[in-house]
Amino acid sequence: MAVITGASSGIGAATARLFAAEGADVALLARRVDRIEALALELAEYGAKVLPLAADVTDPPSIAAAAERIAEELGRVDLLVNNAGVMLLSPFEADRVAEWRQMIDVNLTGVLETTRVFLPAIKEGGGDIVNISSLSGRVTFELNSVYNATKFGLGAWSDALRKELAGTGVRVGVVEPGVTATELTHHIGHQETRDTYAARYDGVERLEAADIADAVYFIVSRPKRAAVAEILVRPSSQKP
Ligand code: NDP
Repeated sequence: MAVITGASSGIGAATARLFAAEGADVALLARRVDRIEALALELAEYGAKVLPLAADVTDPPSIAAAAERIAEELGRVDLLVNNAGVMLLSPFEADRVAEWRQMIDVNLTGVLETTRVFLPAIKEGGGDIVNISSLSGRVTFELNSVYNATKFGLGAWSDALRKELAGTGVRVGVVEPGVTATELTHHIGHQETRDTYAARYDGVERLEAADIADAVYFIVSRPKRAAVAEILVRPSSQKP
């Protein structure tokens, strides 16, 4: 069974769709319960068990409560997709400190906390952890410095964890999407940055969330001897 954080929209929802269609039981974690409940109804057609669970990755007790329900109702965890993330871009000198903290709390600390909670259940059966980083985990951009810091940090932590877990049967992989059509940018509060971001990718045909779900599926469907550490996917017309 697969646990997917940030399953209420975009890449998380697309990943849940793909895994349910492939017959996996899926736990959908997010704060917007109406969205994950609607998605669970939609995925019922595939016949797998789908469990929507309210969880905020910045609130460890909510993650622990979700893990308990999963253990009771779905059993062993074969896959954790740490997908929940926010991208609240602005110039560093705009001093939007609350937004920096939110990005660090969700994109970095939230992944650590979620992994900490689920790792014992993943180790039981030698499962997979796939972390959704970003092109911003490999390439820096102006107006992007704190988001860059969270995603570079996520990539570094993932690779160190991969080494710590090598030989235990648990694989750790990272997917780094380029610009993908989701609601991620809708939450950018600094209007000038939002406009600059849109202009930067003017004319670029966005990836679809399903393209990233495919990369997650590729990683976990390799034979157990093969650990795909990293997949970077750009739109074919995106240069940087
Ligand atoms: P969306 O905004 O569509 O999805 C983000 C998801 O994160 C939502 O489901 C949201 O759920 C969840 N989330 C946010 N904060 C929290 C929280 N505190 N606790 C639990 N869940 C939370 O964007 P994407 O699908 O694009 O983003 C998914 C991942 O992909 C992110 O990590 C993002 O950084 C990464 N990415 C996206 C790219 C793009 O161009 N779209 C490019 C590179 C990387 P809810 O609000 O219901 O809690």
